[in-house]
Amino acid sequence: MVDRHLLIIGGGLAGLSAGCYALRSGFKTTIVEHNVALGGVCTSWQRGQYTVDGCIHWLTGGPFEQVYEELAILPAVPLHTLETWATYRDARAGLEVAFTRDLDALVKQLTAMSPADAPELARLRVGVREMLALHPPMDAPELGHLGEQLREFWHARGALGALVHFRGSVGDWTKHHLQSPQLRRIFTRMLPEAAPMAFLLMVLGYLEQGYLSRPVGGTAAFRDALIRTYGALGGEVRLDATVGEILVTDGRATGVRLVDGTTLAADAVLSTSSAPETVLRMLGGAYDAGPTRERLANWQLFEPIVLASFGVAAPYADVPSLMTLDGDVPFDVGGRLVDCYTVRVCNDDACFAPQGHTVIQALMPTDYAWWTAQEQHDSEARMAIAEVALTALEPHFPNLRSLVRETDIATPLTYWNRTRSWHGAFEGWMPRAGGMFGHVKKTLAGLEGFYMAGQWVEPGGGVPMALTSGRQAIQLLCRDAHQPFVATSKAPRQNEAVSAAYAGH
Ligand SMILES: Cc1cc2nc3c(=O)[nH]c(=O)nc-3n(C[C@H](O)[C@H](O)[C@H](O)COP(=O)(O)OP(=O)(O)OC[C@H]3O[C@@H](n4cnc5c(N)ncnc54)[C@H](O)[C@@H]3O)c2cc1C
Repeated sequence: MVDRHLLIIGGGLAGLSAGCYALRSGFKTTIVEHNVALGGVCTSWQRGQYTVDGCIHWLTGGPFEQVYEELAILPAVPLHTLETWATYRDARAGLEVAFTRDLDALVKQLTAMSPADAPELARLRVGVREMLALHPPMDAPELGHLGEQLREFWHARGALGALVHFRGSVGDWTKHHLQSPQLRRIFTRMLPEAAPMAFLLMVLGYLEQGYLSRPVGGTAAFRDALIRTYGALGGEVRLDATVGEILVTDGRATGVRLVDGTTLAADAVLSTSSAPETVLRMLGGAYDAGPTRERLANWQLFEPIVLASFGVAAPYADVPSLMTLDGDVPFDVGGRLVDCYTVRVCNDDACFAPQGHTVIQALMPTDYAWWTAQEQHDSEARMAIAEVALTALEPHFPNLRSLVRETDIATPLTYWNRTRSWHGAFEGWMPRAGGMFGHVKKTLAGLEGFYMAGQWVEPGGGVPMALTSGRQAIQLLCRDAHQPFVATSKAPRQNEAVSAAYAGH
């Protein structure tokens, strides 16, 4: 079994994680990546002297630190614990609510705004604590023995009350349990209405515990540490190579055909590409496609975004680093009227800009079809959107326009062209209330030697789940190959060429 060849479609976090675990478990691996660099959507890039950080606003640690350590991201990358998750600001109402680690203060502020909601806010406070009894599975649930499942269930019994009371979505909870329209609005603006309440409780609980952080050095430091681990373990990479077809012989995945016609043989294939691309296009819908079609018909995708980033000659040091700006006069962002959006001010790490400068980013929902219709006039459309974003931001950042030194606009087409984010859904499926946020199997019935990992099998995506899903997919591969799964190694094989070529992109 040793040195069987696993071919991995996609060099984002899930593909890199799967690669590391597969190498440790005795497989040879080749990552085939469409983009010219590794990292997938978890990436950053330069604009003059500024770094556009394209990803990590908040990193979930706690139980997930195990995976970061196994992948040697920790302790290589120091983490800066967040005292505040995000700040809600409604300009018109003159209201600001900071979601800090002091949850008692948060509940007190919200209760003062709506005394009638005091009992439900107290229930929320208790629910946050109860949910901490629940541990996300690091191991593939498919491998769980009944005894382990019962033990897990026993440990999680403290969370049952919260799971029942908060079983719906954020939208459901606000509608059925909160009386104040203002509180309803705050919660449904901090998270999408369709997001499970259980997710909000987990975020608040992890925040209070000090489990939310940002990597020092930003997304690039985190991504590059993982790339270094993959290279050091001896993993191979083919960049700028797009898989067009997954090859199947006698019901078993045996390799891929690239869009340029090249074929690459393998003993097993793992895809981290989107579900529609993987199941319907690369496999032609021939294997277990019903559930994917059903999800496409009934599940929500993450809304596509425009990420407008401005390198500015001012530090804006006193502004919260992450804000939900609400209550603006609605403005048009590529066919979508927007009155609420996320703003990141990269003022908490010196790595993003020269001293006295910073980067301000507006992350705004938009319409995918609008951008595809503009494809011929893409640069004009992006310039126009930069103006729209500046007009929206300027009331919150005095003199902003005159301070802008660099501008970068990423649209849903950028996400498709660079990282194949299907329809601009940069985090795949929206998580669903109930169950495990909508479980998706990592294998397809009728197809052997084939596995899936990443944000399209973990609704809601996110850094920790992308990495963990890579781990779990390799556990399934090892089970099928009758090979022990190895999570850590003391003495990695060196592949200096890959380390040198790919670290630092
Ligand atoms: C703006 C933004 C902010 C975010 N903020 C956070 C945050 O604060 N915290 C957090 O935890 N998460 C955040 N995320 C989400 C997180 O980055 C993703 O969920 C995670 O990185 C997804 O990893 P992945 O490997 O599953 O998918 P991807 O990164 O999409 O990787 C898939 C890779 O497969 C490649 N590929 C696809 N099809 C093919 C093909 N046919 N041939 C070859 N290659 C192919 C793609 O090019 C891509 O590189 C954010 C994401 C974005 C975009």
